Amino acid sequence: MKPGAGINARGWVKTRRDSKGIHFLQVNDGSCFQDLQVVVEDGVLPEEILARITTGACIKAAGDLIESPAAGQAVELRASDIILIGDADPAFYPLQKKGHSMEFLREIAHLRARSNTFGAVCRVRNALSDAIHRFFQDRGFQYIHTPLLTASDCEGAGAMFRVTTLPLNGPPPNDDSKGSDADSAEDFFGKPAYLTVSGQLEAECLALALGNVYTFGPTFRAENSNTPRHLAEFWMVEPEMAFCDLDDDMELAEEFLKFIIRYVRGRREDDLQFFNKRIDSTILANLDNVCEAPFGKITYTEAIEWLQKADRKWDYPPFWGADLQSEHERYLTEELFKKPIIVTDYPKEIKAFYMRLNDDGKTVRAMDVLVPRIGEIIGGSQREERFNELSSAMRLQGLDVESYSWYLDLRRYGSVPHAGFGLGLERMLMYLTGMKNIRDVIPFPRTPGSIEF
Ligand code: ATP
Ligand code: MN
Repeated sequence: MKPGAGINARGWVKTRRDSKGIHFLQVNDGSCFQDLQVVVEDGVLPEEILARITTGACIKAAGDLIESPAAGQAVELRASDIILIGDADPAFYPLQKKGHSMEFLREIAHLRARSNTFGAVCRVRNALSDAIHRFFQDRGFQYIHTPLLTASDCEGAGAMFRVTTLPLNGPPPNDDSKGSDADSAEDFFGKPAYLTVSGQLEAECLALALGNVYTFGPTFRAENSNTPRHLAEFWMVEPEMAFCDLDDDMELAEEFLKFIIRYVRGRREDDLQFFNKRIDSTILANLDNVCEAPFGKITYTEAIEWLQKADRKWDYPPFWGADLQSEHERYLTEELFKKPIIVTDYPKEIKAFYMRLNDDGKTVRAMDVLVPRIGEIIGGSQREERFNELSSAMRLQGLDVESYSWYLDLRRYGSVPHAGFGLGLERMLMYLTGMKNIRDVIPFPRTPGSIEF
């Protein structure tokens, strides 16, 4: 829009300042970080209306867009008229000019998208989602939709939420003798059902028909871990590729992370500058660093050796066979390598049944991408494509092979090496924005004991 052009602008008043008969309104419509300064002189509006244009009010301003004489903005709107669309009683409107704590903003999640920080989070979240689709679509991957309701009760990814229409108290009506399995027969699906922890198994079915696919949607985990990096409901993007081994998988994951960082930087430099200034002054330099340097690569066995050699006191002393804890992951990526790394070939006992067994018979073709500040951001693997190896791994992990016969069919008919990974959208957002708590990068967080809004 050229200066001098008559325009209309609608949005919410962030702040208001009055000086010598002139009123300066900072108005934002959510489209970008920068507010529009609307300048109204005394006499343009009835006193009674002017008095009600306060922080939080929604207005429509008409006037000329002119070059701003003051620093802070290139242009401003000289208002010739303002319509008050919805007022916000300053005695009650909870968002005021002073900075609010993240904890307080969480309590008013229905209004927090109007704060600078959360508005920026939402725009970066949108740009990131766009980047994800762009990356895969440009490479010929097909976007698939995997179900959220599932009967697979053990995908090895975490505790699940049970879904049922049975009455809350006691067994179904007319029969109080049945045990819980029998109860399930009366349930909606005729067997136990859950919210999915991952779309991977279904994505594998489609990859073995369509080639390269990705699913991108909500995921649920009932793990009772109240940490700053776990949600009960989060979004995950999961590509799955036929004719693909672990090396191809790692290469794709690295290319993917670099692409989405660059893309979001290109789209939302304004919001990222804000995060860099107000939340964490190292993020932009770190993101540049990620895009330039090749990721480090290390096997799990090497990682354990490094951890044991490290001169430090661990809460969980590392030993071969134990899962890597957050403190271990962060040491490896933040201090040893000082950049993102990919850890591969974990012991089979600590990974899911579907990962491909290595020739050593002890480790599987798993990979985790670890990044500074966050730890694990991507988890992936080459899948076990051999029928015998897969079915014995399932038996070893105590799975009901019968109920997974559809999954084994993929190995019976036209099996092929294939691989994939899962990226947690919110972990990626924490990485991009420097936000320290995962509850502050999703509009309405669900965590143990908390399901407001
Ligand atoms: P972690 O060890 O960090 O709990 P995980 O090994 O259980 O993660 P995966 O099953 O590998 O995670 O899931 C793939 C990705 O999904 C992870 O790399 C992470 O980015 C994300 N993720 C997993 N669990 C959660 C959660 N509860 N909340 C948010 N993101 C998650
Ligand atoms: Mn993992």
